[in-house]
Amino acid sequence: MNYTEERSKAGEYLRLALNYIAKYNLPANPVNYTVWYEYVSGKNMKLKKAIDHSFENAKPLNLGKVEGLYQKYVADGDRIIISKLLTKISLMLKDITDHVSKADGDLTGHGKNLGDLAEQISEAHDYNDMRNIVDQMIIETKALVKSGRRLQTRMKISSDDLKQLHQELEKSQQEAQTDSLTLLINRRGLEKKLELERIRARQNDSPFSIIMVDIDHFKRVNDTFGHLVGDSLLKSIAYMLKEHLRRNDIAARYGGEEFLILLPETGIEGAKAVAQKIRKTLSTKEWKLKESGKSMGKITVSMGIAIYKFNEPEESLIKRADDALYLAKNKGRDQIITQEEL
Ligand code: GH3
Ligand code: MG
Ligand code: MG
Repeated sequence: MNYTEERSKAGEYLRLALNYIAKYNLPANPVNYTVWYEYVSGKNMKLKKAIDHSFENAKPLNLGKVEGLYQKYVADGDRIIISKLLTKISLMLKDITDHVSKADGDLTGHGKNLGDLAEQISEAHDYNDMRNIVDQMIIETKALVKSGRRLQTRMKISSDDLKQLHQELEKSQQEAQTDSLTLLINRRGLEKKLELERIRARQNDSPFSIIMVDIDHFKRVNDTFGHLVGDSLLKSIAYMLKEHLRRNDIAARYGGEEFLILLPETGIEGAKAVAQKIRKTLSTKEWKLKESGKSMGKITVSMGIAIYKFNEPEESLIKRADDALYLAKNKGRDQIITQEEL
C-alpha cells in the first residue's frame, strides 16, 4: 500500500494516528504509527475491520495486540524497514519545520520547500523515493544553516542526524539485497545489478554472460548430514564461487541451492573458462564435517551458461541459462552446458 494522500489529508491522518497512540498509551514507534495511520486513512480495510471489532467488543488495544495486527494486516517484506525510516524522516522534517517557523531569520522560500518535502514523504514508498527525500533534506538544511543564524546550532544537529539517516538508509538497502546466510547478494539485489549491466552492455556495445549454478543432489546432503551441515556447505560453496571471480563479477544466491554468476564484458568462451575452473576446484576437494572430520564425499555442481542478447528482457536470458542447466542435469550432472548446445 502506498500513501498518496494530499498533504493536508496526510497531516490530518498523522494527527489522528498520534491521538490513538496517545490514547492507548503506546510508544510512538513505526509499528504503532503505521497501524494507526492505515486505520485512520481507511485504506487498509482488513485492518480497519479488525480494529473496529476490538472497539465494538471493548477489547484492549495494547502493545502486543497492535503488533499482532501489524504482523497480520500490514507487514510485508521491505515495508517494515521503509515505514521505520519514513517515520524517522517525518519526525526529523517536523523538527526542522518547527524550528524554521519559530526562527526570525530570512527564511523566505524554505517553508515551501520543506512543505514540498512533507508531501513527498506522504507519497514515498520505496528506497529511491526515500533517498531523494533525504538528499533534498540535506540540501535544504544546509541552506537553512546559511540563512538563519539563530538556527545554526539546532540545524547542525539536524544535518548530522540526516547524515546518519542517510547511512542507515544505505545500510538497510544493502541488507535488503543481501542473503543473510551466504552474504552474497540475493535475488532482489541481482535484479538491480542485471538492470545496470544491461544498460552498460547497450552503452558499450559489449555483452555479458551469466552462469546458473545448481548443487547436485543437495537434498541428499541435508538428508544425510542435516540442515545445519547443508547450510554450512552453502556458505562454503558461495565463498568458493567468489574466489573464482574478478572484482567486477558478481555472484548471487538465486534460490535455495542455486547461484547465479554475472560476468560483465564476457562472452560464452570466457564464461565457460570460469565454469571449468569452478568445476576443477570442486573435483579436487574432499568435504569434511567440521566437528568429526568425517568425509562428506565429493560435491559437484551443474552449470548452464547464457550470453545476453541486446534488448532482450532479463527473464529470457535467465531462461536460456536455466534450460542449459536443466540439460546439464539431464545429461548426468557435474557438467557445464552452454546455450549453444541447446
Ligand atoms: P538436483 O541434483 O536435481 O539439483 O538435486 P537436488 O537434491 O539438489 O535438488 P532439489 O531441488 O530436489 O533439492 C534442493 C534442496 O535444497 C531442497 C532443499 O531442502 C534444499 N535447500 C534449499 N535451501 C536450503 C537452505 O537454505 N539450507 C539447506 N540446508 N538446504 C536448503
Ligand atoms: Mg535446485
Ligand atoms: Mg540441486
